[in-house]
Amino acid sequence: MTESSGGDVRLTGISKKYGSFNAVHPLDLTVPAGSFFALLGASGCGKTTTLRMIAGLEEPTAGTVRLAGEDITALPPYKRPVNTVFQNYALFPHLDIYENVAFGLRRRGVKSVKKQVGDMLDLVQLGDFARRKPQQLSGGQQQRVAVARALINHPRVLLLDEPLGALDLKLRRQMQLELKRIQTEVGITFVHVTHDQEEAMTMADTVAVMNGGRVEQLGAPADLYENPVSTFVANFLGTSNLIEAEVVGSSGDDLQLKSGDFKITMPAARCSAPAGTGDKVLAGVRPEKISLVAAADEGTIPAGRNRITGRIKDASFIGVSTQFVIGSPVCPELAVYQQNIERDGRLVPGADVVLHWNPAHTFGLDAAQDIDAGTETPEDSA
Ligand code: ATP
Repeated sequence: MTESSGGDVRLTGISKKYGSFNAVHPLDLTVPAGSFFALLGASGCGKTTTLRMIAGLEEPTAGTVRLAGEDITALPPYKRPVNTVFQNYALFPHLDIYENVAFGLRRRGVKSVKKQVGDMLDLVQLGDFARRKPQQLSGGQQQRVAVARALINHPRVLLLDEPLGALDLKLRRQMQLELKRIQTEVGITFVHVTHDQEEAMTMADTVAVMNGGRVEQLGAPADLYENPVSTFVANFLGTSNLIEAEVVGSSGDDLQLKSGDFKITMPAARCSAPAGTGDKVLAGVRPEKISLVAAADEGTIPAGRNRITGRIKDASFIGVSTQFVIGSPVCPELAVYQQNIERDGRLVPGADVVLHWNPAHTFGLDAAQDIDAGTETPEDSA
């Protein structure tokens, strides 16, 4: 493989066993050069192990790691053109920021470090902090120093292992944008490990969703969100309403489904399950795609919409939107998010309502899967 001179990472049949436990099942994965790639999954799914095999910190049980076409599987970490940024920054407390960033250059015997260190500090916008010690910086600033210290070695690939995990939510959001900006500016390949789906979607061009040592689905964030192919991805990436239904026929490009007394229409192209008449499928729809009206207003719903009746169990006002939980004959709890533009005072717990949505927003999954897979996010258990 010699077609690329950049930093594309290619994992072929890579796996890791600890004793008889498969932490990572044989995995093929290509991270395109210059991309921001996220490995996303719950705690224990094997994402850190995968990252550590790229870094050379973990020896694969089988398979190869290639970087820009070169097989680096047998190279020790320090000989790989790869740097890792960890959650705990690991800055040298006795050195100031300037010397922390200069460290890699000095170790390689580079004499004149001033320009490069200056450029790096500018890149992470810490030029004014050069003479401070790490403990005199905030967590986010320290993490930027760690990024600068790694990037100054000109790695082809920067590996980030939950780098924002120790930061509070607001700072984490800021740092996500900051890291994305830095990656766009330097243009090198970033491989980022996180359990936070919003973080992965905000930053990455491509996200690999991992579950139980396997990649369940890989794609651009919007594509994964709109077209999940498993219940795990549908539930882990945001929230999905999954309604048990049966295929009763088709018309044109659509499938006709039945769930209880309700008919649901779904584009056949959005169904990833076998969908012959009589097959069971899960009809999925995202909470923000659903509109809600009081039952008395059902007549105002335009023709051609999917519609289901229910009763509001809970309503949480969260500023930009109100999040409803609705009990319905076809699903004990449906989530509906409504933007707070004009609020209908009748939409309160106990109210009878009709949920309706554009059939085009329905996706279909194989009903043989666990309908609740991926609902327990690590955020909940953290
Ligand atoms: P986290 O977000 O909690 O770090 P992860 O998805 O990164 O999780 P890994 O650290 O890759 O998960 O671990 C994958 C699995 O392998 C886990 O079940 C873990 O307990 C196990 N594991 C990791 N390292 C070892 C080890 N040295 N010996 C035995 N089992 C291990």
